[in-house]
Amino acid sequence: MTANMRNTEVNGDSSGARGEVSLLRPLKAAEVVARAIVGDIRSGGLAAGANLPSEAAMLDKYGVSRESLREGLRLLEVHGMITIRRGPGGGPIVGAVDSAHLGRVSALFYTMEGATYDELLEAWVWAEAELAERAARNPDADLRAVRMEPFVHAHDESEDGAPDALGDYLERHAGFHHAVAGLAGNRVLALSLETYGQIVAHHVAVLDDPRALRDVLIDDHLQIASSIASGHPRRARELMWQHLGGVVEYCREHLSVPLESPIEWL
Ligand SMILES: [Zn+2]
Repeated sequence: MTANMRNTEVNGDSSGARGEVSLLRPLKAAEVVARAIVGDIRSGGLAAGANLPSEAAMLDKYGVSRESLREGLRLLEVHGMITIRRGPGGGPIVGAVDSAHLGRVSALFYTMEGATYDELLEAWVWAEAELAERAARNPDADLRAVRMEPFVHAHDESEDGAPDALGDYLERHAGFHHAVAGLAGNRVLALSLETYGQIVAHHVAVLDDPRALRDVLIDDHLQIASSIASGHPRRARELMWQHLGGVVEYCREHLSVPLESPIEWL
């Protein structure tokens, strides 16, 4: 398996510079300690917000230099797997698994590869349609109903009657797509396919105000949520495809960069 993968990489068209190096590179001390910490978080069943041992305790436990330990912790912090509270009484705590961090890493790869916004948006529409179809196929009808319940009613305004701030709006929009992904029944697919939307949302938030789209989007969500709750996979897929097709058209007209331009790492 490994040998085949290596051959594929080495013989691949434009990947001569990749190949064996990325697969067989020995780990640095900081990476080894980062893996050990992750192993301890998992085996200890530590949830987001749980305290990790102090630096002194970790130095003792993992037997690495202070520099390597800090570099290892920093590696995990970049991916949001831990947060480090600075100052007295501070220390590392376990972070939440959030596909936004994975999205940030993959956006770096797309940027370095010269991939375009068009390619990102195409991937996004396909991914969300796939997730919607899988969510509607989730065999637990009660779970589908519960998870989709908040979205099958139109919410015109936030609770105090004021229009949503941009941040609230984006959060609510992302909340729907996250709920759909959570029903897809495969955490690998959910985490990886959600990243496209995370990157798109990040760029739309930076480049334009997507609230102009809100009425359309909320009505779309309502229809998609109903089709998932009632277990209609093809309809869910089709509606999601149309929904994001509309967003892509909006992006084509309103984003300040042409969609054929390369993705910027923001
Ligand atoms: Zn949406």
